[in-house]
Amino acid sequence: MPYVINNECIECGACEAECPVGAITAGDGKYVIDADTCISCGACAGVCPVGAPNEE
Ligand code: SF4
Ligand code: SF4
Repeated sequence: MPYVINNECIECGACEAECPVGAITAGDGKYVIDADTCISCGACAGVCPVGAPNEE
């Protein structure tokens, strides 16, 4: 299952640079993951300071 960023996101942008497939972009109030692009590698969760990305 793809990862999803919850509302804990503080928009630091760290995850966007780590995603190997470019699935993460800045959204309205938080960063968002394109579910069709995400390969569930977990890199975003590994760099997020607030644990916002989680596998659904
Ligand atoms: Fe990108 Fe991996 Fe996070 Fe999916 S789990 S959004 S592929 S870094
Ligand atoms: Fe949001 Fe975490 Fe990504 Fe930073 S690393 S933009 S807090 S999801």
